[in-house]
Amino acid sequence: MKNQNDTYTPILVGIPTEPVGSIPRPRELQEALLSHEQGNLTAEELEPLFDEAVSETITRFEATGSPVVSDGEQAKSSFATYTLDGLDNIAPDGMIIPFEDGHIRRLPRLTKGPFKYGVYAGSYLPRAKKFAKRPVKQAVISVSAMSLLYPEDGVPDYSREHFLSDLVKEAVADIRSCFENGAYQVQIDFTEGRLAVKLDPSKQLLQQFLDLNNQVLSHFSEKEHQRIGIHTCPGGDHDSTHSADIDYGELIPMLLTLNAGNFYMQMAGEKNPEASLKIIGDHLRPNQRIYVGVIDVVNETVESAETVRDRVLQAAEYIPIDQLGTTDDCGFSPFSDDVATSRDTAFAKIKARIQGTKLAYNELISKM
Ligand SMILES: [Zn+2]
Repeated sequence: MKNQNDTYTPILVGIPTEPVGSIPRPRELQEALLSHEQGNLTAEELEPLFDEAVSETITRFEATGSPVVSDGEQAKSSFATYTLDGLDNIAPDGMIIPFEDGHIRRLPRLTKGPFKYGVYAGSYLPRAKKFAKRPVKQAVISVSAMSLLYPEDGVPDYSREHFLSDLVKEAVADIRSCFENGAYQVQIDFTEGRLAVKLDPSKQLLQQFLDLNNQVLSHFSEKEHQRIGIHTCPGGDHDSTHSADIDYGELIPMLLTLNAGNFYMQMAGEKNPEASLKIIGDHLRPNQRIYVGVIDVVNETVESAETVRDRVLQAAEYIPIDQLGTTDDCGFSPFSDDVATSRDTAFAKIKARIQGTKLAYNELISKM
């Protein structure tokens, strides 16, 4: 069935700007999700609450002037674990990821094979497209993050090789499901790149992660690569990070060997963005667009449009304007229980990104 969204063609004037994705969930939804977890609310009873949260999120997104919107991941349990919803071969005691402020997130662990996703990200799109007038992007979790589910001591009768071969098929199907459901862009959340350098300074782990992602990307055409992007950040949870202490320059040259058309790169929160931008400029390949992070999601202060403009102008010194875009440094709430940032703050920051990007574009073309 066709609706207005399928025929919508965005007019590409100016510097493209896109969100990373997540928006804090409304309090009523948070409470309902908790009730559901405790067995006091059925999945069916959650549906109208998801509808309401997604509808309100998209209305507010469009009011910021954002040319591309997302559903704010209102129905995703987290950016990383939505794929596991409903599975019975997962235990909660997997790998631990420590954050700088001392809190941890624990990944689940695979207990038996074969491995299949419980949910594909494309399944979130029909609801979003019901409410959206603008193009909707959809995020998926990277195959490399999912690979961490496999425990070090193995799974009975299910080798790591067998798991990885099943996993790559599932990651490809996850991205396909987004295109089939009308995603404008698909963003692969690859937040473990910098963490990989922290865990293994020899960068062998990073190379393994990149190889897995390129294996998934090899299933898509050049044309589809232009609609696939990679998000990188040092983690963003409860206003804290997990790998910001690793020099960005250790990651960037290798990151840009991924065969994707777009890169959504955290930058506003960097201590020395200029050095990182220069490295991007030196390693950028044709047909790659860098969406530079101009909104610091860990800092609660709302940027002014002028601050955003200056960040864009600085990026434009190193990245050609036809390969430049802007984005937020990360999602505002990658895990559904993270309410460190308010919805009002998130949308005010997004509005500043849109306005500041416009200001920068006007200044750049006036000098051409
Ligand atoms: Zn992120």
